[in-house]
Amino acid sequence: MLTLAEKILFILLAAGSLYYAYTGFRRVYLAIRRGRPEERFDRLPERVGRALWLVLTQQTVFKRRPLVSLLHAFVFYGFVYYLLVNLVDFLEGFFGLHARGGIWNAYNIVADLLTFLILVGILGLMLRRYLLAPRDFTWNPNVPLHEKAQAGIARDSAIVGAFITFHVGSRLLSKAFQLAGEGPDPFQPVASALAGALSGLSPALLTFGEHFFWWGALGSILLFLPYFPRSKHIHLFMAPINLAFRKEVPGALTPLDFEKEEEKFGAEKLEDLSWKRLLDAYACIMCNRCQEACPAYTTGKALSPAAILISERYELNEILPRFAQGEESPRPLMDFALNEEALWACTTCLACVEVCPVGNEQMLHILDVRRAKVLMEGSFPQELNNAFRGMERSGNPWGIGQDKRLDWAEGLNVPTVEEKPHPEVLYWVGCAPSYDPRAQKIARSMVEILNASGVDWAVLGRREKCTGDAARRAGNEYLFFQLATENVETLNEVAPKTIVTTCPHCFHTLKNEYKDFGGHYRVVHHTEFIAELLRKGKIRVEEETRKVVFHDPCYLGRHNGVYEAPREVLKGVGFALTEPPRSRERSFCCGAGGAQFWKEEEPGAMRVSENRYKELKGTGAEVIATGCPFCMAMMNVEVAQDEKPLEVLDIAELVARGLKA
Ligand code: SF4
Ligand code: SF4
Repeated sequence: MLTLAEKILFILLAAGSLYYAYTGFRRVYLAIRRGRPEERFDRLPERVGRALWLVLTQQTVFKRRPLVSLLHAFVFYGFVYYLLVNLVDFLEGFFGLHARGGIWNAYNIVADLLTFLILVGILGLMLRRYLLAPRDFTWNPNVPLHEKAQAGIARDSAIVGAFITFHVGSRLLSKAFQLAGEGPDPFQPVASALAGALSGLSPALLTFGEHFFWWGALGSILLFLPYFPRSKHIHLFMAPINLAFRKEVPGALTPLDFEKEEEKFGAEKLEDLSWKRLLDAYACIMCNRCQEACPAYTTGKALSPAAILISERYELNEILPRFAQGEESPRPLMDFALNEEALWACTTCLACVEVCPVGNEQMLHILDVRRAKVLMEGSFPQELNNAFRGMERSGNPWGIGQDKRLDWAEGLNVPTVEEKPHPEVLYWVGCAPSYDPRAQKIARSMVEILNASGVDWAVLGRREKCTGDAARRAGNEYLFFQLATENVETLNEVAPKTIVTTCPHCFHTLKNEYKDFGGHYRVVHHTEFIAELLRKGKIRVEEETRKVVFHDPCYLGRHNGVYEAPREVLKGVGFALTEPPRSRERSFCCGAGGAQFWKEEEPGAMRVSENRYKELKGTGAEVIATGCPFCMAMMNVEVAQDEKPLEVLDIAELVARGLKA
């Protein structure tokens, strides 16, 4: 038990520590509240339950880097238990509680073993960071990063590593000194083993050691608490909150309210971001997993999703007291978190969001800045001008006349809504299959399948317009708003039971984003639709046996979780399906999304499509199967440069080729 003087000292230190910690945490809270409003409070109990489940199972952490995740799990579970351990140690020190024997045996064995595992975990993590120094903690030299970040992260990690080692190590030694005086405890094997080495010390020294390390264990918490708000280790609190408030469909963007006068659209500065984005910056553990998954970063572009959030956090640390009080932040995000190359390199593939262990939505930070650039400054890559103009004037980014929208169907039996005003199934063709000569073959194949299936179907024909996906991802929300409003009006009039799309971008937009404009539809991707036709025996297909690799399109897989249907179709037809190293939720982007298709790729070490094509070819497959006309176009860029190219076919084409009468 502590002496009276020690108790008084502890209480004084605790009061000071709690005061400074409170001040720091309050500032962080006020800073996050500076963010713009965003509705994330629906289904709160469900959100909280899910976040608790994710945190306690550590499943978002274990998605990648299994060994590091295991070491982290030792520290995490250890610290969860240490909430109790610290309380018991406090009661021992202050009130003379003697936590030994009887029911305490169970408590002690867990505490002792977890103490050991925490030390293994933290020393392993420190060894990895400082001695093995993997590339995970570095950035390409062209990546914009806050000037304080690199040194700051190294220092912060060292402080936290030292704190955990000292805190837990002190607790272990305190117990060892105690057991050296009292005799070993089979329920504290690690502390007892250390106690053996101390048994020759005098009782006075043993008491001193026990007190000294008690202070090391609990006093270090008092020292560390005020540091929390500055450290990335605030993620201990912020990550669970962030996971609770994350978006169900992160790629479904929130519309802007153009009715509001003098509104500033998009994000130019920190305070223009929503509160959830500011929370993201505080939840970031700076692990760079998102950077590792990012196709832009991987191919040498200036974009690192991790660097954006880290830079935001370091800027917040710099300006926190004034920012929390409501002062305007001193510089735009483009000055410290992004640059033009990074901003326009994002393919909106969602890999960063999918891999982030703390539920961050990095992609949305980028899109907010794009919105500000396009809507407030009219600044964007010039090549996008043609696509914007085409969508505006002709209803498609190719800029080809609306009267030619049905030319692809020449010679085919394609009913339109003029003939069938309310079809059961509406085939939403999309701009690429309507105008791009290669993609038109997908639409023609789809028509063969639809006609063979006997379902009641039609197309909108000349009434169909671009969904506006590319405009929206490029930040041109106003253009998207116009197209979405028009399309929703048409679709609501036709009111089909099901909409089938051959483009995952149309699929995503119609299914997840038109809701905000009054369009609530059952939308299925054509691979889902074909899988159902095969299952129900509505179409029959000749067996194929070639080796096929399927490329998961980002907007089908990661954005919408459709992984099985395309595989079911390919296997159902008899193809020998092989998987690339990065498939399903880990699939690597083709490079077309996020309006990249309509502009030059940013400078880097290689094209995104090149990286992906090589991987797919490396599987030894004869055919690349796709479910997206844009993925197909990107793969065909590579095919054109390959001496021994693979055949690239859409699943609709593969099925239509073998249709039996
Ligand atoms: S959405 Fe894809 S391209 Fe964009 S930052 Fe995230 S991982 Fe990189
Ligand atoms: S945003 Fe997420 S994945 Fe990226 S560095 Fe931060 S915690 Fe890691």
